[in-house]
Amino acid sequence: MNPFIPPARRVKIDLRHYRVLAVLIFLLLPLRQESPARGHAPGDTLFGRNQYIEYLPGDLPLIFAAPHGGDREPDEIPDRTYGTMVTDSYTRETVLAIRRAFLEKTGHLPHIVISHLRRTKLDPNRDIEEAAQGNPYAEQAWREYHGFIDAAGDSISRHTGAGFFIDIHGHGHPKKRLELGYLISGSSLRQSDNTLNGGSYARGSSLRHLAQYTPDTFAGLLRGDYSLGTLFEQRGIPAVPGKEQPYPDAGDRFFSGGYSTRRHGSVSSGVIDGIQIEAWYEGLRDTDENRRFYAGVMVQVINAYVRHHYGWEDITRAGIPQKPQPAAIKLSIAAPNPFSASTTIRYEIQGRKSRLAAVLYDSMGRLCHRYDALPVTEGVNTFRLSGAELSPGVYFLNFRYSGYTETLKLLIIH
Ligand SMILES: [Zn+2]
Repeated sequence: MNPFIPPARRVKIDLRHYRVLAVLIFLLLPLRQESPARGHAPGDTLFGRNQYIEYLPGDLPLIFAAPHGGDREPDEIPDRTYGTMVTDSYTRETVLAIRRAFLEKTGHLPHIVISHLRRTKLDPNRDIEEAAQGNPYAEQAWREYHGFIDAAGDSISRHTGAGFFIDIHGHGHPKKRLELGYLISGSSLRQSDNTLNGGSYARGSSLRHLAQYTPDTFAGLLRGDYSLGTLFEQRGIPAVPGKEQPYPDAGDRFFSGGYSTRRHGSVSSGVIDGIQIEAWYEGLRDTDENRRFYAGVMVQVINAYVRHHYGWEDITRAGIPQKPQPAAIKLSIAAPNPFSASTTIRYEIQGRKSRLAAVLYDSMGRLCHRYDALPVTEGVNTFRLSGAELSPGVYFLNFRYSGYTETLKLLIIH
């Protein structure tokens, strides 16, 4: 209790405040009911404290962020004393050009989150400790920045069921190409496609969610015909990884994705996949005209990418993707069963295309065989399962399809 104010007087003041508050609430209530979505509609602008962080809500299932393009240097936040301080010049202007390009081509808006603070004051692409270095105003800006991306992600998850987060950066490396960061390091990218398809790389990447149901393999997602790198390269913007440049050479500097890609991509959970895109300066970021070119290509590339991998309609024509019918697999039958040499498994696929894998266990739960990338055409599919190498007994074939699992019991006799 404050010793300088007698208790009776405090009560009187508080009561008066309650009355003022009640009147305010009464006045504000009808307003809120009329427009419940006020402040989060596409076309609005939201700011955090002191306008350090800006959020432009969208209606497409896409989020672009610019963490390192800010130039504000408020006195209340001292300079950071360790970490990287380099500004990614014109990345703020780049995400705004991307926003305009989407609006022109689709009539819809992606979500945009921008930090206006210079990187010497805040680095949103680091954990809060390194980002804000103990300053409460910088910490608040950091929370607002990631809070806005979280809010955009939640809204996309509810409406579309899947989405894409793109962290926009600029690099100063000697090779003029985009560096695409999926949390897969340069040395991992130098592995063979077979190794990358092994499963653990997909699980450790910011495309973990998408890898479960793209029609492509994981290596295909990174550098196949419909990888972002290949799609950019085809439109005149070199990129690594992609078909032309499947990996950075040993000794090349390469950014594979930072804090935001890890936090807002799907590596640990969720349905929002993520990527960090690092663009070189001269020819892409440096002038209005070049940023318009980069932004225009971005719209084409993202559109081709989401149509192929997510199965969405053409967003330049159909607009906002809707939540698709949940994918489902109906196991009909293994015939013959029991069997000796081989059996044919028949199953039906419904809804959007996804990746289908199956794992065969024996009755003790030991893994006997893994079947990757089984056929997934709409309707009835079949595949042959050989029993020749297996000893007689009961087996369980466990199908995994877009988050669903189903198990078929098999009996092998010889
Ligand atoms: Zn950066």
